[in-house]
Amino acid sequence: MRSAVVVGAGIGGLSVAGALARSGWQVTLLERADRVRPEPTAVVLWPNGVRALRALGLGAGLEAIATPLSDGGVRRPDGHWLVQPRPIPADRMPVVVHREDLHDALIAGLGDRVELRTGVTVRTVRADPGERPAVGDGRNLIEADLVVAADGTDSEIRRRLAPEAAVVSSGSAAWRAVIPWYRAPRLPADRPLGGEVLGAGYRFISASLGERGSSGGSSRGGIYWVATAAGAPRPEPPETQLALLRRWYAGWPSPIGELLEATDPADLVQQEVRELRPLPRAYGFPAGPGGVVLLGDAAHAMPPHLGQGACLAFEDAATLAALLPKTRLPDAVQAYDRMRRPRAATVVRQTRRMSAVLQTRGRLALRARDVALGTFTPRLINTAAASAAQWRPPA
Ligand SMILES: Cc1cc2nc3c(=O)[nH]c(=O)nc-3n(C[C@H](O)[C@H](O)[C@H](O)COP(=O)(O)OP(=O)(O)OC[C@H]3O[C@@H](n4cnc5c(N)ncnc54)[C@H](O)[C@@H]3O)c2cc1C
Repeated sequence: MRSAVVVGAGIGGLSVAGALARSGWQVTLLERADRVRPEPTAVVLWPNGVRALRALGLGAGLEAIATPLSDGGVRRPDGHWLVQPRPIPADRMPVVVHREDLHDALIAGLGDRVELRTGVTVRTVRADPGERPAVGDGRNLIEADLVVAADGTDSEIRRRLAPEAAVVSSGSAAWRAVIPWYRAPRLPADRPLGGEVLGAGYRFISASLGERGSSGGSSRGGIYWVATAAGAPRPEPPETQLALLRRWYAGWPSPIGELLEATDPADLVQQEVRELRPLPRAYGFPAGPGGVVLLGDAAHAMPPHLGQGACLAFEDAATLAALLPKTRLPDAVQAYDRMRRPRAATVVRQTRRMSAVLQTRGRLALRARDVALGTFTPRLINTAAASAAQWRPPA
């Protein structure tokens, strides 16, 4: 039986570990945290992410927990429309999912064939031509035919195999929260809960998780919001961060004020926005009878402006799962590298163009940005949405 070690039980590692186990691999999943615990936030999945999850055999579970995300348009903080809401064709419709629901679905997909070891921090990797691939935690060495590095942005395995890829700050911080329905602000039924507002270096997006007031197939429905602001993460406690957010977004269109008022400091998740620059020179490293591959943020951490990080992690997992049964292992590692690098590079390029528009500051530049948003951004989002809609797992 072929064996794999997957490092990291984030959504990338969980999805690939389950897929390999379902196709008969002996899988060990190593996670440095004591528990496999998702953030209490949500994630937008574009059609490529949904298609990848279906290819991984996880589509049925997803339908029960996903809410379609209609286009709420883009406004300026003064309420002026930069991009009017438009109907989205069904094949381009993104969905929004609570991360805890997604994790539950991915954990259910592990079945009982994955050996999950928590509290294990991988510190070394062996990827030499003549030896079986292996990872070590400083005490034990675990060998396998395939090592999947799904250990996130600060991947230790990537640092060793592709040291040219540096983790850099994107110059902004993000705050997210899900307000459960029982604490959600009571707004007129005709006022949309979802949409996007863009100011100079500031952005606020909200989306409904489940039907207004009802959680649908999940017990975790509510309103998800994400705010990004230029600058570093704040060192203050969550209460002060929330007070700052309320000040920064004061006077922005409803429901932003109401949502920030209804947010509890304990709901708040703050994160520095970081990315890999440059991207790794390779995603696959043949070694002995198999090799090592980079997957998810370990391979292509990017700012969340197009909501594609998790979607690409699922694409990576679905690609690997499709290649492995048909191709000899070292060749599959190389084929994965050939398929995934150009794809990730395209999405990262689109994301960086979006970063350039979003980070515009200064009055003149802002006017240019407003024009760019009215023309360039719909085109960029269309291109990104089209490439998301077109992606197919390898046959
Ligand atoms: C504000 C924000 C909003 C976002 N919104 C979206 C969105 O709407 N749509 C979307 O598609 N993407 C979105 N993303 C991106 C998405 O969250 C990530 O791309 C995705 O979570 C990456 O998953 P991963 O499994 O690759 O990495 P991670 O989730 O980082 O998981 C890595 C795991 O590896 C473990 N680990 C790390 N090092 C070691 C080690 N040495 N040994 C053992 N275990 C280790 C960690 O503990 C962790 O569990 C967003 C990101 C941010 C910051």
